[in-house]
Amino acid sequence: MPQQPQLTEEQRKQLEEKIKNMSPQELAEFQKLQCIFCQIVVGKIPSHKVYEDEKTISLLDINPARKGHLLILPKEHYAIMPQLPEKEIGHLFLVGKKLSQVLLRALKVSGTTLFVANGLAAGQRSQHFMLHLIPRKERDEVLEIEEKIIDKTQQQKILEAVENRVSELLGTKKKIVHKKEETFPSSEKTQNSPALNEKENRKEAAEKEEEKDEKKVELDDIPSNILALVKKKVKGIEIKEIEVEEKNGSKIYEFEGIAHGKDYEVEVEVDSKGKVKKVRIEKDADDGPIEENNPDREEEKKDEKVSLDDIANLFK
Ligand SMILES: [Zn+2]
Repeated sequence: MPQQPQLTEEQRKQLEEKIKNMSPQELAEFQKLQCIFCQIVVGKIPSHKVYEDEKTISLLDINPARKGHLLILPKEHYAIMPQLPEKEIGHLFLVGKKLSQVLLRALKVSGTTLFVANGLAAGQRSQHFMLHLIPRKERDEVLEIEEKIIDKTQQQKILEAVENRVSELLGTKKKIVHKKEETFPSSEKTQNSPALNEKENRKEAAEKEEEKDEKKVELDDIPSNILALVKKKVKGIEIKEIEVEEKNGSKIYEFEGIAHGKDYEVEVEVDSKGKVKKVRIEKDADDGPIEENNPDREEEKKDEKVSLDDIANLFK
């Protein structure tokens, strides 16, 4: 990819000051002027263009991962994926599909890799969003990814975390119910399955430990002050389910219920002395959290709402 010119410390400071005082519209215009790819789109900077339509252009990467590496970009300037309208990103992948066929035939390769580097951590070096299309041959050692082994418990935790967010995002609430503790004695289980080796037994024991950390509880088991707090925070709540999780000496009570026809999730975290540390309330999927004093969640919210300032910071 073309490199951005390096600025001196003094120039950088001046630029930061200038950016700080810009309106969002000015900042957007400024970004376009600074963007090499926007200059390529309008023909101010020469490129090896292989394809162009109303919304997209595709060019040869000047520093290819492999010969024939194409960049497919929207003509409009978008810094990161969340900014792209669905239609645009759909069109971009459609072009990727077609150009993939072109590469397979023209370069006689046996495969292609399509990828997006979304964000600095993912290796995004350009401030203009793009799709990479890389022609591939067997054992070409491009983008070698080492496969890692992940244990079942971790896998399950990740699955739940992702599934919860997916259902929030799509508004398809799916209840994830944690299993209760095993009801039959483990000795009997061992007898019934003599094939279980020691390693598997250990793994099961570890999983059971995990399950113990998050238990279903009855209303009677909840301290009255916490119950009162939940009822005060969400007036008229009808509690459907309660889970308790113990973490580093703290207890997290997770209530799920309905009030005024809306689904609510209320999380109350108390320390070892029973003092309330955090309360988090979430109303329905699309409405998002309505009360928040958990710094981690604040971070997440920031991630989701991308402002132009965030983008400017991304490429400092
Ligand atoms: Zn651009």
